[in-house]
This record gives sequence, structure tokens and C-alpha cells, in this order.
Amino acid sequence: MLNYIFEKIDSGIELSEEDLKYLLLIENKDELKKVFDKAYEIKEQNIGKKVWFRGIIEFSNICKKDCYYCGIRKSNKTVERYIMKEEEIIAGAEWAYKQNYGSVVLQSGERDDPIFVDFIERILKKIKELSKGELGITISLGEQTKETYQRWFDAGAHRYLLRVETSNTKLYKKLHPEDHNFEQRVNCLQLLKEVGYQVGTGVMIGLPMQTIDDLVDDILFFKKHDIDMIGMGPYIVSENTPTSELIEDFDSIKENQYMLSLKMIAAVRLFLKDVNIASTTALQALKTYGREMGLKAGANIIMPNVTDTIYRPSYQLYENKPCIDENSDLCMGCLESRILKIDEEIGLGEWGDSPHFTNKAAQKK
Ligand code: SAM
Ligand code: SF4
Repeated sequence: MLNYIFEKIDSGIELSEEDLKYLLLIENKDELKKVFDKAYEIKEQNIGKKVWFRGIIEFSNICKKDCYYCGIRKSNKTVERYIMKEEEIIAGAEWAYKQNYGSVVLQSGERDDPIFVDFIERILKKIKELSKGELGITISLGEQTKETYQRWFDAGAHRYLLRVETSNTKLYKKLHPEDHNFEQRVNCLQLLKEVGYQVGTGVMIGLPMQTIDDLVDDILFFKKHDIDMIGMGPYIVSENTPTSELIEDFDSIKENQYMLSLKMIAAVRLFLKDVNIASTTALQALKTYGREMGLKAGANIIMPNVTDTIYRPSYQLYENKPCIDENSDLCMGCLESRILKIDEEIGLGEWGDSPHFTNKAAQKK
């Protein structure tokens, strides 16, 4: 079956749902190695032997939403809330710029009040100014109106990450309160596209009640919505959240969460080919070399944390989040050597836009 799938890929024939399901169900180590190697080959063909960095600044854990799985959900009263000062955020971006990272990501809990919208707009403009327009900016700030997306785009952001978390609407309902709405989230992806962003989405892998068929549907969802960037990672339990109560012994499923996440990265690369795929921090939370393994399975983006260390313990989306106490210099040094060790080149000073997006734009001309 695997040879047949590889032949289809080599002949440019689209993989079917059955093929994707087969890839996600592989347990045999030799077969898995072949799948990861093939995904890496496809990544190399479409992107090169390259990893792009985005320095991520998790600048606030204040959130108006209450997703049942998330450690910084509104109802979690054990969390000390913070929002970094404007100058601290700018300093983080400047540090990333000086390290020649090429891009930053600004991420936080969701807020849509006018003070917040203005605050972000101001920061985006300042980051563009300090870097003379050279630093690429991705934002991940949840569901907003088209007007807000437009203002932030005009201020300098050009990529947006908004995970749908799962494309199974029934599962989505089980993981969120009544007033959280899947259709609205999907509509936001459309608005982002209309404004002109490179649009990223993704899901959590290994959620309670999630099936392999759901994950196959997630991959088809990415295709159907013509997504440019994928950010997926394993679901990891977070204390004091309703979803964590559905899992008896997370340690016993960790290995499975990890392997399934790598298989998802590989399957997405084999199916979508030219999208950007992040090897997320959550992978490293499960395995020390998880992010490198994500790269070897077909991912091409890494998001080193450049948030000031004093704030990191309060942005605990899940347990064992790595690099909580390492400052950005240390994170940078350790990451760089780890990436060079796996024989990949770091695309320093480059925005590292999604080839899928650039290819589309070229076709339109
Ligand atoms: N608030 C914005 C949003 O939800 O789009 C951006 C920040 S939110 C913390 C970023 C992502 O964290 C979410 O899209 C979700 O997939 C992920 N996340 C939250 N809780 C998680 C958990 N327990 N395990 C793994 N990922 C989690
Ligand atoms: Fe808020 Fe995002 Fe966490 Fe949901 S996932 S509670 S929107 S920070």
C-alpha cells in the first residue's frame, strides 16, 4: 500500500481519504521512517533544505474566551494575568530583528475592545518602523471583525494564525462553551483571506473523543479552504481545565500523541506539498527533540520563544511547556545548534512566506 501511495505522489495524483487514513494508522517503525523520509523529500522539493524562524512574543494571557482545554481560559482563576508593556513587546521584536530572525509572531489571549485594537495597531507600526519594514509579522489574536483585521494588515501584519482546533463541528461544540462558534471561526479565515493575509490554521492532535477519521477530515478541510500555513500540535493536558478531566492518565498516551502529531505533519506535507508547516513547541513538550523530529517529518517553521522570561510561566497553555526559564539568547543558541545538527539551513533574515501563497499570487498575475 505504501509503495502505491508513493507512486501516486510521484505521479502527481492526489491522495484519497483512504490513503491519508492509511498514513495516520501506520505503526510499523520501518514504514513510518519511509513516510517521514518521503515527506521530507517533498518538503525539500517545494521549499528546500531550509527552516524559517519566527520569534514568538506571547505578550498577554488575558482572554475573554473559555475554551475547555486551554490553561489560560477566562475561568482559570489560578492564572496570574499580565499584558506586556508596549516597549517590552517592541524590545522583543527588536531583539529578534537583531538576531536576523526574519519574522516575529505576536500572540495572546483574545480581546477585541478598542483599547486593545489600537494597542496592537500602534505596536505593528512601530515594529515595521524599527526594522525599516524588514521584519515580517505574523499575528495570532483570535476572532476579530473584518475592520480590525484590515487595520492590523494596513499597520504591517501580513500573516495570521487562527486554528479551528478541530474540523468536527460536534467535537468543537464539546470542547467549547455555547457562545463559541465554529462557523464564525471559519468565517474569520475567509475574512482574513479577503483582506490579503497569508492564512494559517490548524488543529490539536489527540484530543479526547477525536478519531483518525476526524484528523483525515482536518487535512481535507485545510485543502478545501486553501490554507497557506499549518500550525498543528499535540493536545496536552492542562490542570484546572474541564478537558483534562476527560483523560485519566496522560502519561500513558503521551507517546501516541507525539507519534500521531508527527504522522499528521508528514501526511499534510505529502497532501498539500507547498504550505508552511510549523513544528510546534507542544511537540517539544512531549519529547526533548520533538521539534527537530517535526522538521524531519516535513515541517519547515520553528517559533523560538522571545517573550521576556518573567512572563513565560504565566503563559502556560498546557503542562511542561518548554524553555520557561531559558532566556532568548540561550533559546537561540540551543535551537541553532540543534537545527544545524540535523543538516538543515536556517533562512536567516528572510520572511519565509508560504510558497503556496506566493505560487497562488504568481498565478493570478
Ligand atoms: N487566543 C488565540 C486563539 O485561540 O486563536 C491565540 C492564542 S491560543 C493560546 C493558541 C493555541 O493554543 C490555540 O489555537 C490552541 O490550539 C493551543 N492550545 C490551547 N490549549 C492547548 C492545550 N491544552 N494543548 C495544546 N495546545 C493548546
Ligand atoms: Fe483564549 Fe485562545 Fe486559550 Fe481559547 S485557546 S481560551 S481563545 S487563549
